[in-house]
Amino acid sequence: MIKFDTAMKIIKNEKTKIKSVRVELLNALGRFLISDIKSPIDSPPFKKAAMDGYAVNSSDNSESYEVLEIIGAGDVPSKIVTKGTCVKIMTGAMMPEGADKIIRVEYVIEKNNRAVPQREETKSNVIGRAENLKTGDIVLSARKLMPKDIGIIASLGMEAVEVSEQPVIGVITTGSELKDPGKKLNPGEIYNSNGLQLCAQIIASGCIPKYYGIVEDNKSKLSGTVSRAFSECDIVLLSGGVSKGDYDFVPDVLKENGLKILFHRVAIKPGKPVLFGRKDNMFAFGLPGNPVSAFVIFEIFVKTLLYQLAGLEYKPVLFHGRLKRDIQRSDTERTEFHPVYAYKEDVIPVKYHGSSHLNAMAMANGLIMIPGGVGKLKAGDYVDVRPV
Ligand code: AMP
Ligand code: MG
Repeated sequence: MIKFDTAMKIIKNEKTKIKSVRVELLNALGRFLISDIKSPIDSPPFKKAAMDGYAVNSSDNSESYEVLEIIGAGDVPSKIVTKGTCVKIMTGAMMPEGADKIIRVEYVIEKNNRAVPQREETKSNVIGRAENLKTGDIVLSARKLMPKDIGIIASLGMEAVEVSEQPVIGVITTGSELKDPGKKLNPGEIYNSNGLQLCAQIIASGCIPKYYGIVEDNKSKLSGTVSRAFSECDIVLLSGGVSKGDYDFVPDVLKENGLKILFHRVAIKPGKPVLFGRKDNMFAFGLPGNPVSAFVIFEIFVKTLLYQLAGLEYKPVLFHGRLKRDIQRSDTERTEFHPVYAYKEDVIPVKYHGSSHLNAMAMANGLIMIPGGVGKLKAGDYVDVRPV
């Protein structure tokens, strides 16, 4: 069994050639931007009004101003503002020549084509040309694209971006006791939750799932499916059959299909039996069948690999909060991920009987890490919460 940090290092060492593809902006959501985006324009491209009001010259303190014209957003001013004059202007419109300040509309009474300020305007209410961005400025660094990023790229006038090609991730669920949802259970059978759960995690990670269904605990059947998946996918995830039981064929079958095992068994809880390997440019994980283990291992290890293969480092956003109750454990060998419910400052450990207790995750919105060697986290301790 290797240490948790060692397993992480092994995953972070892996590289493949990143293939990129140009996609339209909406198709880029959730995908990995692989190089920086520089602005092709100044933003804003002209000096512009940040308020509805009257554009004047800031050195002109006249008691009233003649209104030369009204300009709305999208109009091009035709008049020059001189002493004693102004232009009525709307938010977003181009500033007229001669003006560098807007007296907001709320401060002014307009009568007989004259604007009479009622109180002093202390702000300029003008956004200078290129005040937000200059041509050539780096706007976005490589990252997973979120809705705000799509807006930022659109604001630069770009309709498409270069992202990494979406990996196809195969999902094979092993276990003779499994039935897919929608079917009737016979004695001894349980529903296959890992299949759809892993596919959902894959989709949420911006990748393409390819579901191979349930394979019973039969070596030659498993080998057939593994061999097909190896030729069709960039990454293959198997659930179940990775431990030491009589019917746990996954490690042997993976080896027989040419996978080089990079680790098998890690000091992590849940998910100790986890296996990771590589064959040429294809990677495979053997995930433990217990549903919380499969879920957690995807969050911790598989996501790390997905970012790594896109040339990025996976840095989940962590929230900081105070543990509401003690968490105590006797076996401190493993790095443990414990489900919690975090709200405002409070981090409440979820009641949880272990890695088969999937419905406990319904109460959780995060995971906290208990490092190896640590036996107790005390109520009041500050902990980092990784949202799930
Ligand atoms: P295994 O890792 O195959 O020894 O399975 C460990 C436990 O997880 C057993 O109780 C299995 O019945 C259960 N299990 C295995 N695969 C799945 C799955 N796809 N969905 C839900 N539970 C599973
Ligand atoms: Mg099994």
